[in-house]
Order: sequence, then C-alpha cells, then structure tokens
Amino acid sequence: MELYQSTIHELQDKIKEGKTTATAITKSVLQRIDAVEEKVHSYIRVMKDEALSAAAEADKEIKKGNIKPLSGISIALKDIVCTKGIATTCGSHILHNFVPPYDASVVEKLRAAGAIFVGKTNMDEFAMGSSTETSYFGPTRNPWDLERIPGGSSGGSAAAVAADECVASIGSDTGGSIRQPAALCGIVGMKPTYGRVSRFGLIAFASSLDQIGPFTKDVEDCAIMMNVLAGYDRRESTSVNIDVPDYRQFAGRDIKGWKIGIPKEYFVEGIDPEVKAAIEASIKTMEKCGAQSVEISLPHTQYCLAVYYIIAPAEASSNLARYDGVKYGFRAPASELLDMYKKTRMQGFGAEVKRRIMIGTYALSAGYYDAYYKKASQVRALIKKDFEEAFKKCDVILTPTTPTPAFKIGEKTDNPLQMYLSDIFTISTNLAGIPGISLPCGFTKSGLPVGVQFLAGHFQEGKLIQVASAYERKAQIEKRRPKL
Ligand code: GLN
Repeated sequence: MELYQSTIHELQDKIKEGKTTATAITKSVLQRIDAVEEKVHSYIRVMKDEALSAAAEADKEIKKGNIKPLSGISIALKDIVCTKGIATTCGSHILHNFVPPYDASVVEKLRAAGAIFVGKTNMDEFAMGSSTETSYFGPTRNPWDLERIPGGSSGGSAAAVAADECVASIGSDTGGSIRQPAALCGIVGMKPTYGRVSRFGLIAFASSLDQIGPFTKDVEDCAIMMNVLAGYDRRESTSVNIDVPDYRQFAGRDIKGWKIGIPKEYFVEGIDPEVKAAIEASIKTMEKCGAQSVEISLPHTQYCLAVYYIIAPAEASSNLARYDGVKYGFRAPASELLDMYKKTRMQGFGAEVKRRIMIGTYALSAGYYDAYYKKASQVRALIKKDFEEAFKKCDVILTPTTPTPAFKIGEKTDNPLQMYLSDIFTISTNLAGIPGISLPCGFTKSGLPVGVQFLAGHFQEGKLIQVASAYERKAQIEKRRPKL
C-alpha cells in the first residue's frame, strides 16, 4: 500500500515506529496529486513548497521525539477558511485575490497539532450549492465517476480524500455541505454541534447554521480530527465553553441496548431504490450490533427546506454585504462610488450567489420580515423541538444522508429547486444545531457510493463516533477505491 492511501492512525503508527517521515508522506501525497488532480480538480491551490518545507520542519521535531496527533499528516483545507498570507477565495471571483492577514482558529489548531497543509480545496461559490459546480474555478469531479458531481459545497475537500490527494480535509456545513459530499464520495464526514468548533476565520455564509468539520477515510480518523478541532475559542461569540472529551475513546465501544430512532418522515417518496435498500440494510446491521430500532417522528420535517431557504439567504444577504470592492478582493473599474459598488457585485458574484442575496434581501425587507424571516425562525424552533422530543425516545437517529447517489454534472444546474432537494435529509440538523455524521454504507450496482447518516443531541459527538465505529466494524463495507 502507498503512503498516500493510508489513514491518519496508520501513518501515526508508522511515524511513531520510525518507519516513515513527514517528508515521505508529503511527497507521496504530492505525487498522487500530480497524477490525478487534472482529472478530479479537487484543489483551487496546491501548496507544494509550503507543504515540503513544513514537512522538513516536522521531521526535525519528530526526530527530537516531539510527536503530535497530526505530525506529518497531509491535510487539505476548504478555501473558505482563512490562511494567513495564502489566498482564500471562497470559490468566488470577488475574493479571487483576497489574501487574509490571519489564520482561522482551525488552521492554527491543526498546525499546532503537526498537520501539513497540502492545499486549498474547491467549493461552490460562498458554499452555496450541492455539487461544486458554482465555483468560479470550474467544477470538481467525483473520483468514482468523473462524469458526476462530488456533492457540495465542500466537494473539493471530499473528492481530495476519496482520490487520496490528502489524508484528511476540512469542510464547512451550513445545510449538508460536509455530510452530502462525504456520502457521494464514499468517505466519512462530520458536522459538529453548532458552537463545538470555532468559526473564527471561516468566511461566513449563514452564521447561525455554519459549522466546520472533518472529512476522513474512516471513523477513527474522524475522532482524531475532532480531538484537534473541537473546543472553546474566546474570539468566537457562539463558541461554547464546555469540556471536550477524548473522542477516540468512543471508537470501538459497543452499542448494545441502544435505541436507534428511524424517523418515518425520512422514508417517503423520492428516495432512490438502491439508497433505500442500503439504508434498510444499515438498520439491520444496527440490530446485529445489539441495538434496537424504534420508529420516531419529526413532524415538522416537511418545512425544513422552506425554512432553510429563508434563513440561510437572509443571513447570507447580510454577511455578503461587505463585498463591495472597498475592503476585500476584486474591484470593478468605475468612475464614481455607487457605480463601483454595483459593477463589483454584478461582476464579482456568480448567479447562485446573486439569487440568494436577492431572496435574502427580500425576506428581510420591511413589510416582509414578519411574514418570512420571523415566521421561519418560529418554525425553526419547532424543528429543534422535534429533535428534543425524539431524543427522549432514542440514543441516536439513523437516516439516509442523501436521497440519491451522485448525479451527472450539469443535470441540476438549470433547476435550483431540484438542486436544493439534494440536502433534504441534512438541512434539519443545521436548523436544530445538532451534530451529524455520514459514513459509507454500500455501493449502487453501477459502483457509486451511498452514505448513512447518524444524528445525536447537542454536544453528543462522542455518541456519533461510537455508533459510527460500531456500524463500520459490523457492516464491513467493502474497502473499494475509485479507479482513477
Ligand atoms: N446545499 C446547501 C445550500 O446550497 C447547503 C450548503 C452548505 O451546507 N454550505 O445552501
């Protein structure tokens, strides 16, 4: 097996035993990027020189016996997290030349844990999308089928892990952007509880929904990444100051006697039959683990998409008001100020971002605020309550991650509503602020990966690691790799 194919924990063991070095791992991953990046296009920027010099530094530390949780591990960052001195584009023309003067908290934490950054990954513009097709830098392709989308908006980060162009990566999830691409690319992705991982330095899309989380090759790696990412940050006002458990301890614990909630509202029309079959098999696997499945109800599920598509654009319209050509990035030439604002925003934003800004501005405007934003916020509270009630009856909830496997590039670009429906099973999690994980649960006949999602109560990421690791061990989903 090549170094680039390994998991974090496998590489950690090799480093500890002196069987490999940070430089060897980094070179292996960079060679892999050279070999497949042209086909997949996971990256907006590959940080070859930075990675090699960071690896050389890491090796000096390793030689001194100073081994950290991610020493020498190649990590890719979604191009929405700020990196000091390195362009951070958010997949947009308007930020194509924006060089942040500071690092996001997660970047600081990963670096302090020994991570080697190999690049910034492609994404839907401002994280608005489900396919990575709205990127100013062109689409990313699904490593399992290059004619298909990898999911989005963190499609580059998911494809990079699936194609072995990094060992693990960072994404952000506002309505499913970690879990949906993880499912479509056949890897593990976790959206932590709102407030668990600092958003300081994450370019804001919808501030009450955004969370940063990891993409990994297995559940143990997800726990390792969460140990690094989670925790209080005084620079972020919604960061929650409670203890972070050692998530790795949860991997391998049994789930005998657990109650697995199956929400009846999630098994309605529109689910692809092969996805449905894989999820039914997953429920059986849980029973083989000694857990018991119980039917639960999340009665406000039918409103989730509508509520999200008021709240997210409303917050986005406000967050994106700052991009006017004055402080950041692109500025269109113009002879007077108002004209400059208009032209900058007209030329700097893509169609989907403009659509969201218009919807959001409308929903927040005087006379409509009560009818739309306020009403949506009230229904959001009911959605949150649904989960609180549900978790009285079960330990975790099991659902499909996505209604279908990866679709074809271009298939949904002309139909925003169809595109929005891709997140039908992931959006409620963000509205409720709870954590969720997606992991592989099988393949379709044509060889596309399918994902199963587990959800837990606030700050119960440990439970998610526990149930996902139990599932992973019992289900023994074939360890296929995409043929690139
Ligand atoms: N696909 C959803 C959207 O377009 C969610 C995106 C996300 O989670 N960033 O808004």
